[in-house]
Amino acid sequence: MTTPFTALQEIGEFGLINRMLTRLGLSSDDALHQGIGDDAAVYHVGDGVVHVVTTDALIEGVHFDLSFMPMRHLGVKAIAVNVSDVVAMNAQPRYATIALGVPPGVSVEMVEALYDGLAEACRIYDLTLVGGDTTMARQLTLAVTVIGAAAEDAVVYRRGARPGDLLCVTGDLGAAYAGLKVLLDQRRAMAEAGDDFQPNLDPFRYLIQRQLTPTARLQTLRQWAAVGVRPRALIDVSDGLASEVHHLCEQSDCGALIHSAALPIDTETRHAADQFMEDVDTYALYGGEDYELLFALPEADFHRLPEGTCTVVGTFTEAADGIRIVMPEGGAFPLEAAGYQHFGPSGDEAPPNLTG
Ligand code: ADP
Ligand code: MG
Repeated sequence: MTTPFTALQEIGEFGLINRMLTRLGLSSDDALHQGIGDDAAVYHVGDGVVHVVTTDALIEGVHFDLSFMPMRHLGVKAIAVNVSDVVAMNAQPRYATIALGVPPGVSVEMVEALYDGLAEACRIYDLTLVGGDTTMARQLTLAVTVIGAAAEDAVVYRRGARPGDLLCVTGDLGAAYAGLKVLLDQRRAMAEAGDDFQPNLDPFRYLIQRQLTPTARLQTLRQWAAVGVRPRALIDVSDGLASEVHHLCEQSDCGALIHSAALPIDTETRHAADQFMEDVDTYALYGGEDYELLFALPEADFHRLPEGTCTVVGTFTEAADGIRIVMPEGGAFPLEAAGYQHFGPSGDEAPPNLTG
């Protein structure tokens, strides 16, 4: 009998995580409020306080390319993407650890610049890097874990949305993916033109900043707390809006109706999409790496949010209605969950984090 071999592409990243869950089994730990399945795990530590814990890795050649990612920026990004998952539970980041894999081509000075970036992000987001591990590796690898804290009743999960709630998103969408496209395009142009090539990144400064040093929306939590607003469901947009809406809807047992005309898209993102002759809505829906917050809010709470801090992109509906998007020409169409997934199945065709 031959040993079974199921390719990872056949089940994709989320299918694989489900297989892992089956092997691990359910936990019977009463202190654990949330295990695998949300942006971070949540466990009770006493006195109405919970901690949250999350891990996100950045791998050279998958998430970044050293030809255009400065080490300092990489350090900032590695912390920010983890803080984003803590923020997505409505919790405050406290401590971080990092497992670092260093290939032979990386110098001491590069590692120092990386740690300047890590230290800078720790200052920005008010957390402390307290440990880690250092090993040799084939590619530069950063696996960061962040622990955060929150009052037990402040935590917001992916599962609390109800039909009729507004579907809101902070900031704008698609810019990080557009920034990646610009960087890859400039790299290609440089390879073709040789040493004479003068890169012109000025028209796309915002996009490049969004790709290289995304911001976790920690300030947004402070604004919500100040006006007494707590979303009913919350997730951060790491894999593209479409994929994250599906997570909120699946876990809240809801459907959703999204208006494509309402998607918040920066002018630079539109210009980049025009230049590449691509549909900018695709960037916003499937691009990923925006690290904005997507959340469900009862309509009655909307007026309490400070003006201009978020955009209503749709509403939650009954689960039976499915997840649909209204196009500018009219008509509502099912919104596929496609977005970046490691190993596919849709990941290979969807906008990637880095490699096309
Ligand atoms: P996010 O995009 O918010 O970082 P992911 O889609 O990466 O979330 O992960 C979804 C859930 O699966 C999270 O709860 C995460 O902790 C869990 N998870 C991901 N990979 C693994 C793994 N290799 N083993 C155990 N749990 C995992
Ligand atoms: Mg997340």
